[in-house]
This record gives sequence, structure tokens and C-alpha cells, in this order.
Amino acid sequence: MANTIVLGAGAVGIATAYYLERAGEKVTVIERQPAAAMETSWGNGGVIHASEIEPWSQPGMPRNVLRWLGHEDAPLLLRLSAVPHMWGWGLRFVLNCTSARFRRHCAANLALALHSLRSLQEIRAELGLSYDQATNGVMKIYRSAEAFDRAERSFRLLEPLGLVFRRLSAAGAVAIEPALRSAATELAGAFHFPNDEVGDCNKFTQGLAGECARRGVEFHYETVVRAIETDGGKVTVVVTDKGRLPASRIVVALGSYTGLLLRRLGLEAPIYPVKGLSITFPRGDWADAPRMPVIDDSHLFGLVPIGERMRISGSAEIAGFDTKPARERCDAIVGNASKTFPSLKQAFDPGKATFWAGLRPVTPTGSPLIGRTRIEGLWVNAGHGHLGWTMACGSGRALADLIGGKDPGIVLPEPQGSVFH
Ligand SMILES: Cc1cc2nc3c(=O)[nH]c(=O)nc-3n(C[C@H](O)[C@H](O)[C@H](O)COP(=O)(O)OP(=O)(O)OC[C@H]3O[C@@H](n4cnc5c(N)ncnc54)[C@H](O)[C@@H]3O)c2cc1C
Repeated sequence: MANTIVLGAGAVGIATAYYLERAGEKVTVIERQPAAAMETSWGNGGVIHASEIEPWSQPGMPRNVLRWLGHEDAPLLLRLSAVPHMWGWGLRFVLNCTSARFRRHCAANLALALHSLRSLQEIRAELGLSYDQATNGVMKIYRSAEAFDRAERSFRLLEPLGLVFRRLSAAGAVAIEPALRSAATELAGAFHFPNDEVGDCNKFTQGLAGECARRGVEFHYETVVRAIETDGGKVTVVVTDKGRLPASRIVVALGSYTGLLLRRLGLEAPIYPVKGLSITFPRGDWADAPRMPVIDDSHLFGLVPIGERMRISGSAEIAGFDTKPARERCDAIVGNASKTFPSLKQAFDPGKATFWAGLRPVTPTGSPLIGRTRIEGLWVNAGHGHLGWTMACGSGRALADLIGGKDPGIVLPEPQGSVFH
């Protein structure tokens, strides 16, 4: 039985550990937090959405990012202080904003998202994990006819590849989600994605980590990975703050921190952190809270029921590795959500809310890095950007298949950076 050390117990690392163990590997997981999914996989939007697979590197984005410079309410805010540390990544991001590349990356992301959804559903059926899941789909709403038509053109291109959606009038949207009634007169229309799901990524990942532990996976929590040592082009040791672990195979699943570790081995993994925010609060007395997850295209937030809680998420800020949830930006997101759901204003009690920030591990193509690096025994599974919960199970399964010499059954995203060659 081979021994594999997985670095990182986020959604991606734990899914990888799970599938490796099932394939008969002996697996060890190293994580700096006291439990699984305590960083970016903790408070994300909660949506498993094939409907959101479009990379942020898309035609028109470079011009928009420049236009939004200095605008605190920008959909994607680039802080100038971050530029010196990410210009190489930024240049690659810009080069990936052509229509042809965008379409190619959309197709790869959709294939992985659908593979992942099937894998998640199998795990759910098999293990009976409970993670506040809901399977009534997701609604996306649009205020401008132009944005609505543009989105439809984009979704129609993805339809033959497996994206399922229904176009709705404003009245049709209200019929499905009555909480939209106050916004109805402003809506150009909506799309319903019946196959998208919602669930608490933290609960799912911790449940799956528990199952891994029961099956014999060894966990080293509160252990910081400092370096990987190699000899003769092969991995030999994982160096941690608690000691050295001999290794013949390592999977790096450190989310936004993957590049920092690999750089010390001369490998360039182009992953940059893009900060996002979420605000979670008890549904409590909000009698007419939406029952369906709603993503508002023009006010740029997602409002998602997660069990008895509501979560509003949004914001994308390129500001290095800072993880403080800036209160003004959180308030702006709640304010935006209140424009669509006016009764939120009365129902929202900041004293009962959890304000959170996480770092999306974003690559220039908008697709993750999954595969074997050019160092023998060193594999990577990271860079899932705004789609890590959507793609975690499929990515873990695909990497375990590759390690086992099996065809993962889908075309994986193309390699990036100098990691793979
Ligand atoms: C506001 C927001 C909303 C989002 N909404 C959605 C959504 O609705 N749907 C969706 O699909 N995705 C969403 N995402 C993206 C998703 O959360 C991420 O892509 C995903 O969590 C990444 O998982 P990961 O396992 O790669 O990284 P992480 O969860 O960050 O896991 C990496 C792990 O590595 C550990 N680690 C790092 N460095 C070290 C070290 N040196 N030693 C030991 N351990 C280390 C960390 O503690 C962490 O646990 C959202 C993200 C944000 C910020």
C-alpha cells in the first residue's frame, strides 16, 4: 500500500484524501487549523453551481478592472498595493481574456463541475452526510435587458455541454420565489438552474473528514507545513513545525497558499488570493425570507438559505493575503441585498451575524491545477477560485484516478505555469 501525504484539509484536500483512501492508499493529512475546512472552505456562498462556471478572466474584464480602480463598491477591486506582487499573474490573467480561451475554459470548468456534482451526490447517498443541503436549484436575477440577453447567449452555448436552465419572466421568478415580489417591477428576467444545489461546505467537509478518519486516514491538525524536501528529483520529506515526515508521494491542496510552498521548489503555480466576504445570520423572525438561493447579477451578491441560517456573500478584492472582513464592505453587501429584499433591513441584526472573509485561490485561466508536477511524487490539486465547493468532490476523485493510473473520465483543465513541465 502506497503512502500519500495530503497537505491542506479544505474541501479539496479532504475530497482528495477520501478518494485516495477508497482506492486503497494509506493517507495522511496535514493541516494547520484544529479541524478541517476552517479557512476558505468555512464561510463560502454555499452554492454548488454549474451555472457559475464562467472564469473571471473573460473578454472585457481587463478594461473593467481598470475602470473600477479606486471604486470601493467595484465587483472586482484591485488594490494598487497588491500590484507589485502579482503583475506576472495579472499579465497571464489578461492573456486569458480572449473569447476563444474563455470558451475553452468554460467547457473544462463545466465538465469538472458536473463530474463533481455527480460525485457529491454519490457520497451523499452512500454516507448519508447531513450538511444543510438543499436541492431546489438556484435562481439568478437580472435588471437590465442587455445583461439578461448576454447571459442567455452564454448559457445557450453551454446547454449542449450539459448546463440545464429555464428562462423566466419577472412574474415567473416571483411565482417560484415570492420573496422577489418587491423587486419584480425592476427585473428584466431570471434563470432557474434546477440542478444546482446548496449546502454548508464546512459541515460537509468535516463530515467527510470524519469518515476518512474512521476509515484509517491519519490527521495531523495544528501542524504547519514549512517545506517539502526532494532528493534526485523526487520528494522525500514534508517539513512541519512539529517535525519531519518521510514522504514518497505528496498532494499539495493548500488553496491560496499553494504557490508560496511550491515556489521554494522552483515550481510556479499561478494562484493568487482574491478576497471575498460573507455574512451569516439566523433566519429567526424573517418571515418572508427567500427559500430559494438567489444570485443578483446587478447588485452582485448571493443570498442563500443554509438550513436555519441565511448567508449573503459577495465582493472580490485583490489585496494580498489579508483576511479581515472589512465592516464597511460587509455593510455594503447587506445594503445591496436589502434593495432586492426590503424586509431584510428590519430582520437583520448585526449583533447576531457572523462577518467572515476568505481567499479564493484564483488562477489566470479560472480553472484549477490538477495533476502531477515535474517533481516525482509531487501532485497538486488547487486553484479552484470561486468554484472550490462546486468542484471539490470531482477534483479529489480526478486526482485520485490520475495517481492510480486511471482515466478520470473527463477532460481536465489545461496545465498552467511551470508546475507540470
Ligand atoms: C466569499 C466567498 C464565497 C464563495 N462562494 C462559493 C460558492 O458559493 N460555491 C463555490 O463552489 N465556491 C465558492 N467559493 C470558493 C471556495 O470557497 C474555494 O474555492 C474553496 O473553499 C477552496 O478550497 P481549498 O480546499 O482549495 O482551499 P482551503 O479551503 O483554503 O483549504 C486549504 C487548507 O490549507 C491549509 N493550509 C494552508 N497553508 C498551510 C500550511 N502552510 N500548513 C498547513 N496547512 C495549511 C488551510 O488552513 C486550509 O485549511 C467562495 C469563496 C469565497 C471567499
